[in-house]
Amino acid sequence: MAVYRNKGIVLRSIRFGEADRILDLYTQDAGLISAIAKGIRKTRSKFGARLEPLSCVEFMAYSGRSLDTLTQAETLRSFHKIREDLVRFDAAARMVGYVKSLSGGDEADRRVFNLLYHALDALEGRGSGFEVMEAAFGMKLAILAGYAPQLDACVECGMEPEDLEGMIRFAPDLGGILCAECGGGSRDSFPLPPGALERLRAIVRLPLKELPETERMSEALRRVVRSHVIAHAPSNALISEGGGRRPA
Ligand SMILES: [Zn+2]
Repeated sequence: MAVYRNKGIVLRSIRFGEADRILDLYTQDAGLISAIAKGIRKTRSKFGARLEPLSCVEFMAYSGRSLDTLTQAETLRSFHKIREDLVRFDAAARMVGYVKSLSGGDEADRRVFNLLYHALDALEGRGSGFEVMEAAFGMKLAILAGYAPQLDACVECGMEPEDLEGMIRFAPDLGGILCAECGGGSRDSFPLPPGALERLRAIVRLPLKELPETERMSEALRRVVRSHVIAHAPSNALISEGGGRRPA
């Protein structure tokens, strides 16, 4: 039994039996893991942490075949302000859906842990603009996972759109934008509102902390990011948990 210590963000926490919980955590050094925490809901629980969804914990555990077993946990950040606000929580839940859908294998990626931590931190710290935070997180995560969409030139003809206000479509399956000429007859694409491409490029470029608190394009940005993740996610079990529905 290998005992280890790690930091993780609780993605999901479900009751199991009388007093136990089964957790999904995105950890700093081991990527996505599932673990059981026994006796967590007893009054004299040995856990200092309550292991609520989105909280960031430092924990000790030993490895098991399918489930690891947590033996200790301590809260580093509870992110309780996110859980207490529906709109914030909805954005965070979708971020969690993105993490689950884009973390296909066992690969550990500390950058994913850091990105999620900073996104939760920014979500908790701001008073509005949660949707653009969610979209920017999904976009940055897709890029980290190796699914960067092509936003500088048409995926069909390679032409750079000169007129960013002009007719541009996004094609999730092709992984990028289509110019007016190539996008004309494409069924598997949808039009971007004028100016949306510029905002898409901005959420790729800007650090999370610098995203605007008012973003008039946030719905268009979310649509692009969601459709892109759904089209390319290795584990497509995803997103229903994040509050959305996959298209049939
Ligand atoms: Zn084209």
